[in-house]
Formats: sequence, structure tokens, C-alpha cells
Amino acid sequence: MITVSKEDYLKAIAEAEAEGETVISATLAHWLAITRPAVTAALKRLKKDGMVAVKSDGRIQLTSQGRQVAEQIIFRHHLIERMLSEIFGMPWYEVHEEAERLEHAVSLAFEKKLVERLGEKDVCPHGNGLALRSPAERRKKGLCLLSEAENGVPYRVVSVYERDRKLLEFFENEGIRPGTRLAVQARNYDGTVSLAVEKNTIRLGGAAAEKIWVLKS
Ligand SMILES: [Zn+2]
Ligand SMILES: [Zn+2]
Repeated sequence: MITVSKEDYLKAIAEAEAEGETVISATLAHWLAITRPAVTAALKRLKKDGMVAVKSDGRIQLTSQGRQVAEQIIFRHHLIERMLSEIFGMPWYEVHEEAERLEHAVSLAFEKKLVERLGEKDVCPHGNGLALRSPAERRKKGLCLLSEAENGVPYRVVSVYERDRKLLEFFENEGIRPGTRLAVQARNYDGTVSLAVEKNTIRLGGAAAEKIWVLKS
């Protein structure tokens, strides 16, 4: 049996908010792959602890205390991903799951050591960081989804959706990762986009193109 910790709930709520999703208990059940009754029981505890507020329409929101806990875990998650990638050379598309397990074991002392070694910048190997969490914040900085990019204009990949391992491996195989330069050549009738990626031309499905944030370069 998988135990889902209080931290996992808080992080999942923060992540879902960042993805621009309305968080209700069904969202959490789906994201954490657990039953609705389990979510209901956990929310009751989190409410009692002052970590979340549940609105009358069922929407779940983090309190400032809940947000603080969630952001600390997310910060540690990014540090662990960077440690695995930068110090141990683990491929960028493999580090997320490993960090999901290790993040809970990080003490304040170890967190400080990691920051000393890796630096303060909070950008993980997938290009994600606490400063640019929501779609609105990303758009304010001039980023757009690859699915909305203009034809024939050079862009650089800033970040990718990291909670789907198969998708990350697919991106890796197509030569797409944070930092990759690409341009949309055409939008096709089957909903795919034709992309010039470095020296290759590939076709990417619309759903995959919605998982990549780019910036004009
Ligand atoms: Zn991750
Ligand atoms: Zn990441």
C-alpha cells in the first residue's frame, strides 16, 4: 500500500494550482492516484491543522501556512533533481520520480548543504522553479506554449511538464529538452505541428505541444 503524506497533498494542491487547474477532491484523487474517501479523510485533517481551506463549492485552497509547507517541499524537490542530475549525472528525464521519493527525507541541514553546493537558483532540470509557477506568471515573462508559437520564428524551450515520465522520454528521443532551439514550420490538418528542432524536422502532436513552454530567442 502506498502511503500518501500530508506533504504530498499540500504539494499536489500547489502543483495543480500552478497548472491553472481548479482543485477539488476529484483532482487530488486523480493526481495522487488514490480513492475519493481517502482524499476526504486527509482533507479533514489538513483543515484541522490549518493547512487548507475548502470553499462551499468544494474548491480547495492552501492557507498561507499550507503554501509555506508546499513551497518548501517543492524547493527541496528541485534541489534533489539538480543534485541527481548535476552531481550524479542522472538523465534529466529520470530525476523526477527519484526526487518524489527523496524529497521527504531532506533535513534543514541537508537542504543547506545542497544550496551551498548547487547555488540558490531555483530552476530544476525540467526548467521549472517556484518563481515561474502559474501559466499567468509565465505569460507575464513573455513565455508561451509551443502549441501557440508563431510559424517561422525561432524559440527556445524554457520548461516542460515533468510529471509524465513517458512524455519526457518521448521529448528526449525527439531532441527536445530545456534549452533546445526550435521553430514551428507548419500547423497540419491532423492537429500536429511540424517543427525544425536543431537540424531535424519532426512532427509533434498538439497535446505534447501544450506541455512545453517556449520563449522567442
Ligand atoms: Zn520533479
Ligand atoms: Zn523538475
